[in-house]
Amino acid sequence: MSQAIAWLATAPFLPVAAILLAENLLLFLGALAGGAWLRQRFAHRPVSLAPDELAGGEAAAAASTVLLNVVVTFVGLWAWRAGVIRFRTDVGIWAWLDVLVLLLVMDFLMYWLHRMAHHPLVFPWLHRLHHDFDRPRPLTLFVLHPLENLSFGFLWLAVIAVYPTSWLGMSVYLALNLLFGTLGHVGVEPFPDRWARTPVLRQIGSSSFHARHHQDLGGNFGFYTLLWDRLFGTLAPGYEAGFGRLPDA
Ligand SMILES: [Zn+2]
Ligand SMILES: [Zn+2]
Repeated sequence: MSQAIAWLATAPFLPVAAILLAENLLLFLGALAGGAWLRQRFAHRPVSLAPDELAGGEAAAAASTVLLNVVVTFVGLWAWRAGVIRFRTDVGIWAWLDVLVLLLVMDFLMYWLHRMAHHPLVFPWLHRLHHDFDRPRPLTLFVLHPLENLSFGFLWLAVIAVYPTSWLGMSVYLALNLLFGTLGHVGVEPFPDRWARTPVLRQIGSSSFHARHHQDLGGNFGFYTLLWDRLFGTLAPGYEAGFGRLPDA
């Protein structure tokens, strides 16, 4: 890992751009493949109706999201080289605590960004594109307005500029971010029903949680946890009773 970090610190523009593009493409394809596997494996537990046929605009929006993610990663790399973003190299308990801190802080900030995106003055031109798909599929995770995608990306860079996380903490957080994002759009519930009733686990986001947001735009704005929705009174009514079921079933 230290060799990769040393390479990233000094490597010229083109090879770095190629690596970042390949990395983002692999993550994108990994999310689609993992999501397709989950849809098949848990087909008996649908939480959304089967998605409509793939539209051309959907694929184009997803492609633009992947490219913009490369841009955000590139800006992050530049900020790191300039000393604006710093990373620690420890791998002990504090590095693992970073994961918890990043999840909670980002969840809180993204909760509010998401709520603002639902404001009537903002929603029609910014967030409606994502909500055009009330029957999400794994690809829907990437169907975002470019400005919406960039605002999440730059929020993330701002957080790690303020909070000097470890490489380990950042990597695990980013992996979980992709995992939760995919889970929220697979349309099936892999977690058992008791998930929504078990202490601690019931505070963690699920497929049902975000699937419900695609049906009912008035609640479930969080991403990784239900904490902020519970605290600010926006958890969709009947979330626990409807866990693992189609919204109108
Ligand atoms: Zn939304
Ligand atoms: Zn969504």
